[in-house]
Amino acid sequence: MMASETSVLVVGGGPVGLTLSCLLSGQGVDHMLVEAHRTTSPFPKARGVAARSMEIFRRMALEEEVRRAGLPAEHVCFYRGRDLVDPDFVRTGLGPRPEGADEHTPSPGLLCSQDALEPILLRRATDLAGRRIRFGTRLLSFAEDGAGVLAVVEETGSGIRHRIRADWLVGCDGAASAVRDGAGIAMEGPTGLGRYLSIRFEAPLGDVVRDRASASYFLTTPGRGGFLAVDNDRHWIYQHPLTAEDAGPPAAPSEHDRLVDLIRAASGVPDLDVTVRDTATWRMDARLAADYRRSRVLLAGDAAHVIPPTGGHGMNTGIGDADNLAWKLAAVASGYAGEALLDSYAAERRPIARQVIDISTDNARNRDSYRIDDELLLTAAYRSTAVSPGPGTHHEPSTLRVDGLHPGCRPGARLPHVRLADGASSLDLLGPGFTLLTAADSPAWLRQAETARQAGVPLTVRPVPADASSTRAPWSRLLGEAVPTAAVLVRPDGHVAWRGSDPLTDLQALLRRLLAR
Ligand SMILES: Cc1cc2nc3c(=O)[nH]c(=O)nc-3n(C[C@H](O)[C@H](O)[C@H](O)COP(=O)(O)OP(=O)(O)OC[C@H]3O[C@@H](n4cnc5c(N)ncnc54)[C@H](O)[C@@H]3O)c2cc1C
Repeated sequence: MMASETSVLVVGGGPVGLTLSCLLSGQGVDHMLVEAHRTTSPFPKARGVAARSMEIFRRMALEEEVRRAGLPAEHVCFYRGRDLVDPDFVRTGLGPRPEGADEHTPSPGLLCSQDALEPILLRRATDLAGRRIRFGTRLLSFAEDGAGVLAVVEETGSGIRHRIRADWLVGCDGAASAVRDGAGIAMEGPTGLGRYLSIRFEAPLGDVVRDRASASYFLTTPGRGGFLAVDNDRHWIYQHPLTAEDAGPPAAPSEHDRLVDLIRAASGVPDLDVTVRDTATWRMDARLAADYRRSRVLLAGDAAHVIPPTGGHGMNTGIGDADNLAWKLAAVASGYAGEALLDSYAAERRPIARQVIDISTDNARNRDSYRIDDELLLTAAYRSTAVSPGPGTHHEPSTLRVDGLHPGCRPGARLPHVRLADGASSLDLLGPGFTLLTAADSPAWLRQAETARQAGVPLTVRPVPADASSTRAPWSRLLGEAVPTAAVLVRPDGHVAWRGSDPLTDLQALLRRLLAR
């Protein structure tokens, strides 16, 4: 059996594993990714790519490509009607942003279906890691010995097996995660909140919905489900709710006539020209892994949390996991952080997934108050050893704010977006390592940063450029007040680690604490 070695073995090439791979490459971490399938998923499961995911793609220089593959933010709203031609339809949700609305992000969310997104991520992952990205390769088993993981993988088709020795194993292998089972991590929470037949089809519905274009079309007629727009033109999914009596095997595309009848009846267009492309049945679960780490094994994405799709946050929460984990693995792998830094991953991400599951479950139970919140994941405020807390926040858990985004440069929160004079965002000031944001001129902070760099921490000082055309400088807009001596330490994932105003602060001691050295 052939053998290879790597620092991190990523199992699963869905959106989360591929994002993690790109971010690990960006951090210079040697890694391999194995994906059982030979190609990316043809099924457009997730479609809503939230603002926070777009900000992460912006950092990966993929935002424009994803935007080109998707629909505009104006379509991210909900339709309610008896069928697609109901004259009394109601549309709620984001829609176009009201004139003068606060601009909270440089990268608003959009609809880009997973089958269009994954190839973009795969191309980038392969550009960066080459043959270390192995599609058509399944993880068969692994053993963990405290110092690393020995995995056995098999090439699909040829059956050739390889051994891979890795320091760390990350299971991004979806809801039925073999990595999670192998690590003995239990899942908690209810299953079977609903069962659906998902029919992917083509039909000329673009003209039918022209005056009511939405992301999801909920049908109020009993026994009907809803349409999900893939391109709001020819490509669609119809989700048909299954009852206990529908317990038999899923309808196959070969049952074409029956499926076409279902779609015609649900759409309200009796002579609709329908071509069924694919079918799948899926079960709505609301489950969370009891832990995100066991020794050298970590979980991310659906392997760690199965979130009802009612809310559109499943994939987005997983992309946030990848962003949180990549720099921590890099810091531990390159020796400038202690292993205990990886415990902050669960402390920061698990409570967020818990909240997202609860919000999405409420949506599933009460579709009348269903809301999609493009900014929800921007509100994540982390509490862990990897954040130096503000006053009085020591014992709070990591949390999302359901009452909306209140941007602030607070430790744990994502750095707020502020437009700079050149049109860029404050988020664009961040580099791949830690960034110390300061007012325009700050030699004392520069000296401090140099000392930290000598101790091995990748830290860049970025003065926030002044804006001569504005009466309120970006620096004071960012801080919410004008403090010329202040500095904001931002982690590689864009979350504020610390904020202070005394240039005599022992930055090195602070970083040692944050990085569990
Ligand atoms: C109908 C529906 C609508 C949804 N809508 C949204 C939405 O609008 N927004 C949103 O954010 N989310 C949505 N989701 C959820 C979203 O699809 C998932 O959260 C997302 O796919 C999870 O990504 P992942 O990479 O963690 O896992 P997956 O996409 O499941 O990828 C896991 C990968 O691991 C591979 N794998 C498994 N076992 C092995 C092994 N042993 N060896 C090698 N590879 C392996 C699999 O082949 C697979 O490719 C929706 C889901 C459904 C069902």
